[in-house]
Amino acid sequence: ACENSETPIAESEYQTETGSNEVERSPDEPIRIGFAMDTLTEERWLKDRDYFEESVEALGAEVEIMTSHGDDALQIWQAETMISHGIDLLVIVPHNAESTAAIVEKAHSAGIKVLSYDRLVKNAAVDMYVSYDNEQVGVLQAQAITSLVPKGKYVYIGGAETDNNAHMVKKGVFSVLQPLINNGDITIVFDQWTKDWLPVNAKENMELALDANNNEIDAVIAANDATAGAVIEVLEERGLAGVIPVAGQDADLAAVQRILKGTQTLTVYKPIKELTMIAAELAIALAREEEIGRFMNVNNGKMEVPSILLKPIIVDQSNVDETIIADEFHTREEIYLEN
Ligand code: BGC
Repeated sequence: ACENSETPIAESEYQTETGSNEVERSPDEPIRIGFAMDTLTEERWLKDRDYFEESVEALGAEVEIMTSHGDDALQIWQAETMISHGIDLLVIVPHNAESTAAIVEKAHSAGIKVLSYDRLVKNAAVDMYVSYDNEQVGVLQAQAITSLVPKGKYVYIGGAETDNNAHMVKKGVFSVLQPLINNGDITIVFDQWTKDWLPVNAKENMELALDANNNEIDAVIAANDATAGAVIEVLEERGLAGVIPVAGQDADLAAVQRILKGTQTLTVYKPIKELTMIAAELAIALAREEEIGRFMNVNNGKMEVPSILLKPIIVDQSNVDETIIADEFHTREEIYLEN
């Protein structure tokens, strides 16, 4: 695979006589998948990239990978570029759930199906969606935190408003919190999105949350481990790390280390390898126009999208061994070396 390469495949090999995108080739040529990623900033996406490539290649297909680093226009351009290279199917992790609908249309007009990976493209005729149950991620976070802190002042540090997952996670969190808010046990003293999921923005929000409440808060639910890390940095500066429970998501190495140290309470672990294997299999089946069976549906504002949602797993100090280490998501050495 070629990361960010504009012309990984000699144009001539795949150009048809008419010069169109409709590439004609023999059935024994390998299927080629385009993987349009948004970002590699959070650690998990490196696993998504590497395992997806491995999974596709293990099935005898090829993959071209491009990453737009949070730039919507670039993501559209990269998808168009891969379409022009003659990919058979596009797998996309949308940066912006709405604006990437244009990519789905472009792919379809070139006769290419689109699989939405981890994040859902909204308001477009997406062919398949493969992810985790993101609402359940929020439910798990909130159930665990409310059992530790059944009453008090809560801070919610959301994900990027442009990412459908951030909305799903938040929905899950508030489905648990709402009854406790209604009966007066819990008060939400701060609730903001984090632009582009960036820790610097989460840090600024956390400072605002503490300033506005005289540092008197009882729990923080953060949408992922990167934002939780920013929250904990602020808590450390104010001598409150380890005192105020913090929830995150992703099982980033640093987050697992914070959990063992006691500054982060929990994370939500999503076994990425499994996701990439399922996505690779489906992508290839879709590219071959094979019957892919029946799946659950997720509405994306335009249609019911056939979907597979894997189960997220809550991880705290009690089960790091049998989850993250057992799966070799991180090795014991990695976790304890830098601790
Ligand atoms: C993913 C998270 C990730 C976040 C930031 C979300 O869509 O579900 O796992 O941390 O994006 O990249």
